[in-house]
Amino acid sequence: MAQIRFDQNGLQALLQELQQREYSVIGPRINKGSVVLDEITMIDELPRGYIVEQEAATYRLHKTDFPGFFGITHTMGGWNRYLYPVFTTLWKAHRNQQEFKIDCSVEKNYRFALLGMRPCDLEAIKKYDRIFLQDLYQDKSYKDRREKVFIITVNCTKPSGTCFCDSMESGPKSGEGFDLAVTEIIDNGKHYFIAETGSEIAEEIIKNIPYEDAKEKEVKAAENLVLNAATQMGRTLDTDNLKEILYKSYENPHWDDVALRCLTCGNCTMVCPTCFCTTIEDYTDLTGATGQRVRKWDSCYNNEFSYIHGGSVRTSAYARYRHWIMHKLATYYDQFDTPGCVGCGRCITWCPAAIDITEEATAIRKHSITA
Ligand code: SF4
Ligand code: SF4
Repeated sequence: MAQIRFDQNGLQALLQELQQREYSVIGPRINKGSVVLDEITMIDELPRGYIVEQEAATYRLHKTDFPGFFGITHTMGGWNRYLYPVFTTLWKAHRNQQEFKIDCSVEKNYRFALLGMRPCDLEAIKKYDRIFLQDLYQDKSYKDRREKVFIITVNCTKPSGTCFCDSMESGPKSGEGFDLAVTEIIDNGKHYFIAETGSEIAEEIIKNIPYEDAKEKEVKAAENLVLNAATQMGRTLDTDNLKEILYKSYENPHWDDVALRCLTCGNCTMVCPTCFCTTIEDYTDLTGATGQRVRKWDSCYNNEFSYIHGGSVRTSAYARYRHWIMHKLATYYDQFDTPGCVGCGRCITWCPAAIDITEEATAIRKHSITA
Protein backbone atom coordinates (compact mmCIF):
# COMPACT_ATOMS: atom_id res chain seq x y z
CA MET A 1 0.00 0.00 0.00
CA ALA A 2 1.17 3.55 -0.77
CA GLN A 3 2.21 5.66 2.17
CA ILE A 4 -0.53 7.68 3.78
CA ARG A 5 -0.80 11.01 5.52
CA PHE A 6 -3.00 11.91 8.45
CA ASP A 7 -3.17 14.71 10.99
CA GLN A 8 -3.84 14.70 14.72
CA ASN A 9 -7.53 13.98 14.16
CA GLY A 10 -6.38 10.89 12.30
CA LEU A 11 -4.14 9.96 15.22
CA GLN A 12 -7.06 10.30 17.66
CA ALA A 13 -9.29 8.27 15.32
CA LEU A 14 -6.60 5.57 15.16
CA LEU A 15 -6.54 5.40 18.92
CA GLN A 16 -10.33 5.11 19.09
CA GLU A 17 -10.41 2.46 16.39
CA LEU A 18 -7.89 0.39 18.35
CA GLN A 19 -9.95 0.78 21.50
CA GLN A 20 -13.07 -0.34 19.67
CA ARG A 21 -11.19 -3.44 18.65
CA GLU A 22 -10.54 -4.06 22.35
CA TYR A 23 -6.88 -3.20 22.43
CA SER A 24 -5.47 -1.56 25.54
CA VAL A 25 -3.47 1.22 23.93
CA ILE A 26 -0.13 1.72 25.67
CA GLY A 27 1.97 4.79 25.00
CA PRO A 28 4.32 7.29 26.64
CA ARG A 29 2.79 9.69 29.16
CA ILE A 30 3.99 11.97 31.92
CA ASN A 31 3.62 10.67 35.43
CA LYS A 32 5.10 12.44 38.45
CA GLY A 33 7.68 14.32 36.40
CA SER A 34 8.92 11.44 34.30
CA VAL A 35 7.78 9.67 31.14
CA VAL A 36 6.40 6.19 31.64
CA LEU A 37 4.58 3.70 29.48
CA ASP A 38 0.95 3.44 30.47
CA GLU A 39 -2.54 3.09 29.08
CA ILE A 40 -3.58 6.01 26.83
CA THR A 41 -7.22 6.81 26.24
CA MET A 42 -6.79 9.99 24.15
CA ILE A 43 -3.89 11.63 22.34
CA ASP A 44 -3.87 14.57 24.79
CA GLU A 45 -2.34 12.16 27.28
CA LEU A 46 0.78 11.80 25.12
CA PRO A 47 3.73 13.97 26.27
CA ARG A 48 3.04 16.68 23.72
CA GLY A 49 5.63 19.44 23.67
CA TYR A 50 8.14 17.55 25.75
CA ILE A 51 11.64 16.66 24.72
CA VAL A 52 14.11 14.66 26.72
CA GLU A 53 17.77 15.29 27.37
CA GLN A 54 19.73 12.07 27.87
CA GLU A 55 23.36 11.67 28.79
CA ALA A 56 25.30 9.23 30.94
CA ALA A 57 23.43 9.09 34.30
CA THR A 58 21.17 11.94 33.13
CA TYR A 59 17.50 12.02 32.08
CA ARG A 60 15.82 15.43 32.03
CA LEU A 61 12.42 16.31 30.64
CA HIS A 62 11.94 19.74 29.10
CA LYS A 63 8.65 21.36 28.17
CA THR A 64 9.04 23.30 24.93
CA ASP A 65 6.94 25.08 22.31
CA PHE A 66 7.53 22.10 20.03
CA PRO A 67 4.01 20.89 19.16
CA GLY A 68 4.99 17.26 18.47
CA PHE A 69 3.44 14.31 20.27
CA PHE A 70 6.56 12.17 19.97
CA GLY A 71 9.40 14.53 20.87
CA ILE A 72 10.75 12.24 23.56
CA THR A 73 12.73 9.26 22.40
CA HIS A 74 12.77 6.61 25.11
CA THR A 75 10.89 6.00 28.27
CA MET A 76 12.94 4.55 31.11
CA GLY A 77 11.54 1.05 30.82
CA GLY A 78 11.26 -0.76 27.52
CA TRP A 79 8.11 -2.03 25.81
CA ASN A 80 9.31 -5.57 26.46
CA ARG A 81 7.40 -5.62 29.77
CA TYR A 82 4.11 -5.78 27.85
CA LEU A 83 5.17 -9.00 26.16
CA TYR A 84 7.42 -10.41 28.85
CA PRO A 85 6.21 -8.94 32.15
CA VAL A 86 8.34 -8.27 35.21
CA PHE A 87 6.14 -10.76 37.11
CA THR A 88 4.30 -13.67 35.47
CA THR A 89 2.23 -16.15 37.46
CA LEU A 90 2.98 -19.49 35.84
CA TRP A 91 0.48 -21.52 37.82
CA LYS A 92 -1.60 -21.52 40.96
CA ALA A 93 -2.38 -24.49 43.19
CA HIS A 94 -5.41 -24.96 45.43
CA ARG A 95 -5.81 -27.58 48.13
CA ASN A 96 -8.79 -28.51 50.26
CA GLN A 97 -9.82 -31.58 52.28
CA GLN A 98 -10.72 -33.54 49.14
CA GLU A 99 -8.31 -32.55 46.43
CA PHE A 100 -5.25 -30.72 45.20
CA LYS A 101 -5.64 -28.81 41.92
CA ILE A 102 -3.12 -26.99 39.72
CA ASP A 103 -4.40 -24.23 37.47
CA CYS A 104 -2.05 -23.36 34.59
CA SER A 105 -4.34 -20.93 32.79
CA VAL A 106 -3.87 -17.99 35.10
CA GLU A 107 -2.75 -15.37 32.55
CA LYS A 108 -5.39 -12.78 31.67
CA ASN A 109 -6.33 -12.26 28.05
CA TYR A 110 -4.04 -9.33 27.20
CA ARG A 111 -4.37 -7.48 23.92
CA PHE A 112 -2.05 -4.51 23.64
CA ALA A 113 -1.55 -1.84 20.99
CA LEU A 114 1.86 -0.29 21.55
CA LEU A 115 1.82 3.29 20.30
CA GLY A 116 5.08 5.21 19.87
CA MET A 117 7.59 2.39 20.01
CA ARG A 118 10.98 3.34 18.59
CA PRO A 119 12.66 1.26 15.85
CA CYS A 120 15.38 0.00 18.21
CA ASP A 121 12.73 -1.39 20.56
CA LEU A 122 11.06 -3.16 17.64
CA GLU A 123 14.42 -4.80 16.87
CA ALA A 124 14.65 -5.82 20.53
CA ILE A 125 11.26 -7.54 20.23
CA LYS A 126 12.54 -9.45 17.21
CA LYS A 127 15.39 -10.71 19.38
CA TYR A 128 12.82 -11.87 21.94
CA ASP A 129 10.95 -13.63 19.10
CA ARG A 130 14.15 -15.47 18.24
CA ILE A 131 14.60 -16.55 21.86
CA PHE A 132 11.04 -17.31 22.91
CA LEU A 133 9.42 -18.51 19.69
CA GLN A 134 12.09 -19.97 17.46
CA ASP A 135 13.98 -22.30 19.77
CA LEU A 136 13.12 -25.82 20.83
CA TYR A 137 10.79 -24.56 23.56
CA GLN A 138 8.30 -21.76 23.04
CA ASP A 139 7.30 -19.45 25.85
CA LYS A 140 3.52 -19.72 26.06
CA SER A 141 2.89 -16.47 27.87
CA TYR A 142 5.09 -14.53 25.42
CA LYS A 143 3.52 -16.25 22.43
CA ASP A 144 -0.03 -15.43 23.54
CA ARG A 145 0.75 -11.76 24.03
CA ARG A 146 2.92 -11.48 20.92
CA GLU A 147 0.30 -12.96 18.61
CA LYS A 148 -2.26 -10.36 19.68
CA VAL A 149 -0.09 -7.24 19.87
CA PHE A 150 -0.45 -4.32 17.44
CA ILE A 151 2.74 -2.28 17.04
CA ILE A 152 2.86 1.36 15.93
CA THR A 153 6.45 2.51 15.64
CA VAL A 154 7.55 6.11 15.37
CA ASN A 155 10.64 6.61 13.23
CA CYS A 156 13.27 8.70 14.98
CA THR A 157 13.98 12.17 13.65
CA LYS A 158 15.93 13.47 16.65
CA PRO A 159 17.99 10.91 18.55
CA SER A 160 18.99 11.35 22.18
CA GLY A 161 22.50 11.88 23.46
CA THR A 162 22.87 8.22 24.44
CA CYS A 163 21.43 6.69 21.25
CA PHE A 164 23.61 4.60 18.93
CA CYS A 165 21.06 2.51 17.00
CA ASP A 166 22.75 3.45 13.72
CA SER A 167 25.87 1.53 14.82
CA MET A 168 23.75 -1.50 15.70
CA GLU A 169 21.70 -1.29 12.47
CA SER A 170 18.50 -1.12 14.49
CA GLY A 171 17.29 2.40 13.64
CA PRO A 172 16.49 5.24 13.22
CA LYS A 173 14.07 3.88 10.58
CA SER A 174 11.74 1.04 11.50
CA GLY A 175 12.70 -2.32 10.07
CA GLU A 176 10.17 -5.06 9.32
CA GLY A 177 7.77 -6.22 11.98
CA PHE A 178 5.62 -3.17 12.68
CA ASP A 179 1.91 -2.96 11.96
CA LEU A 180 2.10 0.76 11.31
CA ALA A 181 5.29 2.88 11.08
CA VAL A 182 4.82 6.60 11.45
CA THR A 183 7.03 9.65 10.93
CA GLU A 184 5.87 12.84 12.63
CA ILE A 185 6.49 15.96 10.55
CA ILE A 186 6.30 19.56 11.68
CA ASP A 187 7.15 21.94 8.87
CA ASN A 188 6.22 25.57 8.24
CA GLY A 189 3.25 25.45 10.56
CA LYS A 190 2.04 22.12 9.15
CA HIS A 191 1.88 19.14 11.49
CA TYR A 192 1.14 15.70 10.07
CA PHE A 193 2.14 12.07 10.07
CA ILE A 194 3.39 9.95 7.18
CA ALA A 195 2.67 6.28 7.75
CA GLU A 196 3.21 2.94 6.09
CA THR A 197 1.36 -0.24 6.93
CA GLY A 198 3.11 -3.51 7.66
CA SER A 199 0.23 -5.92 8.17
CA GLU A 200 -3.22 -6.77 6.84
CA ILE A 201 -4.84 -5.80 10.11
CA ALA A 202 -3.24 -2.34 9.89
CA GLU A 203 -4.67 -1.91 6.39
CA GLU A 204 -8.11 -2.74 7.72
CA ILE A 205 -7.75 -0.40 10.67
CA ILE A 206 -6.66 2.64 8.69
CA LYS A 207 -9.74 2.35 6.48
CA ASN A 208 -11.62 3.66 9.51
CA ILE A 209 -9.51 6.74 10.11
CA PRO A 210 -9.42 9.98 8.08
CA TYR A 211 -6.33 9.90 5.84
CA GLU A 212 -5.18 10.74 2.34
CA ASP A 213 -2.44 9.34 0.14
CA ALA A 214 0.87 11.00 0.94
CA LYS A 215 2.39 13.19 -1.75
CA GLU A 216 5.79 12.21 -3.07
CA LYS A 217 7.45 15.29 -1.56
CA GLU A 218 5.93 14.48 1.86
CA VAL A 219 7.28 10.94 1.74
CA LYS A 220 10.67 12.36 0.74
CA ALA A 221 10.54 14.87 3.61
CA ALA A 222 9.90 12.00 6.06
CA GLU A 223 12.77 9.97 4.59
CA ASN A 224 15.15 12.92 4.81
CA LEU A 225 14.31 13.54 8.45
CA VAL A 226 15.13 9.92 9.30
CA LEU A 227 18.32 9.93 7.18
CA ASN A 228 19.39 13.09 8.95
CA ALA A 229 18.72 11.47 12.34
CA ALA A 230 21.23 8.75 11.48
CA THR A 231 23.92 11.43 11.34
CA GLN A 232 22.96 12.87 14.73
CA MET A 233 23.49 9.87 17.00
CA GLY A 234 24.73 10.81 20.46
CA ARG A 235 27.09 7.83 20.49
CA THR A 236 28.70 5.39 18.07
CA LEU A 237 30.00 1.89 18.60
CA ASP A 238 32.58 0.27 16.33
CA THR A 239 31.33 -3.33 16.07
CA ASP A 240 34.06 -4.51 13.64
CA ASN A 241 35.62 -7.68 15.09
CA LEU A 242 34.24 -6.66 18.47
CA LYS A 243 33.11 -10.17 19.33
CA GLU A 244 36.58 -11.59 18.65
CA ILE A 245 38.25 -8.74 20.55
CA LEU A 246 36.05 -9.35 23.58
CA TYR A 247 36.70 -13.09 23.50
CA LYS A 248 40.44 -12.35 23.60
CA SER A 249 39.99 -9.90 26.47
CA TYR A 250 38.91 -12.03 29.43
CA GLU A 251 41.97 -10.88 31.38
CA ASN A 252 42.03 -7.32 30.06
CA PRO A 253 43.14 -4.92 32.88
CA HIS A 254 40.35 -2.54 31.88
CA TRP A 255 37.81 -4.75 33.70
CA ASP A 256 39.50 -3.71 36.97
CA ASP A 257 38.85 -0.11 36.07
CA VAL A 258 35.14 -0.76 35.42
CA ALA A 259 34.88 -2.76 38.65
CA LEU A 260 36.01 0.29 40.65
CA ARG A 261 32.99 2.20 39.28
CA CYS A 262 30.27 -0.42 38.87
CA LEU A 263 27.88 -0.65 41.84
CA THR A 264 26.41 -3.97 40.58
CA CYS A 265 22.99 -2.35 41.05
CA GLY A 266 21.56 -4.08 37.97
CA ASN A 267 19.87 -0.92 36.60
CA CYS A 268 21.38 -1.58 33.18
CA THR A 269 19.70 -4.98 33.01
CA MET A 270 16.31 -3.73 34.25
CA VAL A 271 16.05 -1.06 31.54
CA CYS A 272 17.53 -3.09 28.70
CA PRO A 273 14.97 -4.22 26.10
CA THR A 274 17.01 -7.29 25.15
CA CYS A 275 17.72 -8.66 28.65
CA PHE A 276 15.53 -11.64 29.42
CA CYS A 277 16.86 -13.44 32.52
CA THR A 278 14.36 -14.50 35.11
CA THR A 279 14.15 -16.43 38.34
CA ILE A 280 11.33 -18.51 39.77
CA GLU A 281 9.75 -18.06 43.19
CA ASP A 282 7.08 -20.16 44.88
CA TYR A 283 4.66 -18.66 47.39
CA THR A 284 2.01 -20.16 49.64
CA ASP A 285 -0.53 -18.52 51.87
CA LEU A 286 -0.22 -19.01 55.61
CA THR A 287 -2.76 -21.82 55.70
CA GLY A 288 -1.14 -23.77 52.88
CA ALA A 289 -4.45 -23.85 50.98
CA THR A 290 -3.19 -21.93 47.93
CA GLY A 291 0.18 -21.52 46.35
CA GLN A 292 1.61 -20.06 43.20
CA ARG A 293 4.74 -20.13 41.08
CA VAL A 294 5.88 -16.74 39.82
CA ARG A 295 8.50 -15.95 37.23
CA LYS A 296 10.15 -12.59 37.79
CA TRP A 297 12.90 -10.65 36.07
CA ASP A 298 16.35 -11.27 37.46
CA SER A 299 19.71 -9.67 36.82
CA CYS A 300 23.14 -11.15 36.17
CA TYR A 301 24.43 -8.46 38.56
CA ASN A 302 22.74 -10.21 41.51
CA ASN A 303 25.17 -12.33 43.49
CA GLU A 304 22.65 -15.20 43.69
CA PHE A 305 22.12 -15.20 39.94
CA SER A 306 25.20 -17.38 39.37
CA TYR A 307 24.72 -19.53 42.50
CA ILE A 308 25.59 -23.16 41.78
CA HIS A 309 25.78 -25.87 44.50
CA GLY A 310 27.34 -23.95 47.35
CA GLY A 311 28.50 -20.67 45.90
CA SER A 312 28.19 -18.00 43.25
CA VAL A 313 30.38 -18.18 40.19
CA ARG A 314 30.60 -14.44 39.62
CA THR A 315 31.20 -12.78 42.97
CA SER A 316 33.06 -9.64 41.85
CA ALA A 317 31.89 -6.53 39.98
CA TYR A 318 34.73 -7.29 37.57
CA ALA A 319 33.23 -10.68 36.66
CA ARG A 320 29.63 -9.44 36.52
CA TYR A 321 30.22 -6.41 34.29
CA ARG A 322 32.46 -8.48 32.02
CA HIS A 323 29.79 -11.16 31.78
CA TRP A 324 27.08 -8.60 30.97
CA ILE A 325 28.95 -6.74 28.19
CA MET A 326 30.28 -10.04 26.80
CA HIS A 327 26.72 -11.28 26.49
CA LYS A 328 25.53 -8.09 24.80
CA LEU A 329 28.34 -7.83 22.28
CA ALA A 330 29.82 -11.31 21.89
CA THR A 331 28.09 -14.43 23.24
CA TYR A 332 24.59 -13.34 22.16
CA TYR A 333 25.86 -13.65 18.55
CA ASP A 334 26.82 -17.26 19.20
CA GLN A 335 23.54 -18.07 20.92
CA PHE A 336 21.11 -16.24 18.65
CA ASP A 337 23.01 -15.07 15.53
CA THR A 338 22.44 -11.44 16.42
CA PRO A 339 23.97 -8.87 18.79
CA GLY A 340 22.38 -8.53 22.23
CA CYS A 341 22.26 -4.76 21.97
CA VAL A 342 20.09 -2.49 19.84
CA GLY A 343 21.82 0.76 20.76
CA CYS A 344 18.89 2.28 22.66
CA GLY A 345 21.32 3.81 25.17
CA ARG A 346 19.11 3.17 28.20
CA CYS A 347 21.88 1.40 30.12
CA ILE A 348 24.04 4.52 29.70
CA THR A 349 21.31 6.93 30.76
CA TRP A 350 20.20 4.94 33.80
CA CYS A 351 23.56 3.79 35.14
CA PRO A 352 24.06 5.76 38.38
CA ALA A 353 27.82 5.51 37.86
CA ALA A 354 27.61 6.84 34.27
CA ILE A 355 29.19 3.69 32.87
CA ASP A 356 28.83 3.74 29.11
CA ILE A 357 28.79 0.51 27.08
CA THR A 358 30.19 2.33 24.02
CA GLU A 359 33.10 3.78 26.00
CA GLU A 360 33.90 0.52 27.77
CA ALA A 361 33.85 -1.46 24.52
CA THR A 362 36.12 1.16 22.93
CA ALA A 363 38.49 1.00 25.90
CA ILE A 364 38.67 -2.80 25.66
CA ARG A 365 39.40 -2.52 21.94
CA LYS A 366 42.17 0.01 22.61
CA HIS A 367 43.76 -2.12 25.36
CA SER A 368 43.61 -5.22 23.17
CA ILE A 369 45.42 -3.40 20.35
CA THR A 370 48.12 -1.96 22.61
CA ALA A 371 48.56 -5.16 24.68
S1 SF4 B 1 27.03 -0.86 34.92
FE1 SF4 B 1 25.95 0.81 36.03
S2 SF4 B 1 23.78 0.24 35.99
FE2 SF4 B 1 24.95 -1.61 35.45
S3 SF4 B 1 25.23 -2.66 37.41
FE3 SF4 B 1 27.07 -1.36 37.12
S4 SF4 B 1 26.55 0.56 38.18
FE4 SF4 B 1 24.59 -0.54 37.92
S1 SF4 C 1 22.82 -2.97 26.21
FE1 SF4 C 1 22.24 -0.85 26.66
S2 SF4 C 1 22.18 0.19 24.68
FE2 SF4 C 1 22.18 -2.01 24.29
S3 SF4 C 1 20.00 -2.58 24.11
FE3 SF4 C 1 20.58 -2.91 26.26
S4 SF4 C 1 20.07 -0.97 27.30
FE4 SF4 C 1 20.06 -0.56 25.08
